[in-house]
Amino acid sequence: MHLINADLHSHSDISDGTLSPEALAERAHAQGVELWSLTDHDEVGGQQRARDAALALGMDYLTGTEISVSFAGETVHIVGLGFDADDAALQAGLAATRSGRRERARQMAAGLARAGIEGAFEGALRYVGNADLISRTHFARFLVDSGVCPDTHTVFRRYLTTGNPGYVPHQWARLRDAVRWVVGAGGVAVIAHPGRYRFTATEEYALITEFLAHGGLGMEVITGSHSAAEQIRYAETALEFGLLSSRGSDFHSPHESRTELGALPDLPGRLAPVWGALQHRIQRSRSGTARASDRAVRPRKPEMA
Ligand code: AMP
Ligand code: MN
Ligand code: MN
Ligand code: MN
Repeated sequence: MHLINADLHSHSDISDGTLSPEALAERAHAQGVELWSLTDHDEVGGQQRARDAALALGMDYLTGTEISVSFAGETVHIVGLGFDADDAALQAGLAATRSGRRERARQMAAGLARAGIEGAFEGALRYVGNADLISRTHFARFLVDSGVCPDTHTVFRRYLTTGNPGYVPHQWARLRDAVRWVVGAGGVAVIAHPGRYRFTATEEYALITEFLAHGGLGMEVITGSHSAAEQIRYAETALEFGLLSSRGSDFHSPHESRTELGALPDLPGRLAPVWGALQHRIQRSRSGTARASDRAVRPRKPEMA
């Protein structure tokens, strides 16, 4: 069976990516992506542009967003797919989630100033495509371009993570709310890059079971953030909990992203792709050849050893 090339996690300059939704659509199409989703952080402002660009290229489209959530002292990301982007409760929830970002950025800049780095708020703002969505990534770009650090990874390690001068703890959305906004708007909620969270086994179990209890259905198994071992581990987790599986590069920029759009391993064949459950939500181009018809089934029970 032909497994389609689905990339259901990427960022434009409406959040912390560097390409416009149109340029991202073109790049995804050129890389062979057949079903694409733009998943900007806490924002759906780019959805119409992304959809129009995708369909004009003959590429199928699912609406998307990546919601910042605070859970067990950690920031967790929930990707929403295939929702109605005009849904009022979803839009209000995302606006509330975004609303603290500017004040947080001022506090980050104050922390950096205490460490001897002046002007970081104005500096980061120069990289921002959407004034509502100033993120740590924009600070990282400023600190690299101004010569403070050699690359964004080093900026995060030295300045922008817990215990470092530019880190400011922040209260994001509640897990329950994020899942409800997506599900209420007709979409499917997906736990993004589960391998990235610094959770104990107990905390991870709590995350998954609460997520399921609120109506969450999916988990990213194949993502630019996972090592090969994590892909195997979370394939097992998806089977164990009966979760639908997703695949996405988390592409941000041609120069920064480790993983190119669409350039990921296929989902392991025994998993149920999340797009199987979203057939009715896929926006299809009339000229498009891609038909995302892969198995709309639930995962099988785990096999006994
Ligand atoms: P924020 O939502 O403002 O906290 O920013 C989070 C974003 O920072 C993520 O979506 C990533 O794009 C980026 N990020 C987080 N950790 C790292 C890292 N270690 N290296 C590079 N980028 C990172
Ligand atoms: Mn990001
Ligand atoms: Mn993320
Ligand atoms: Mn992301």
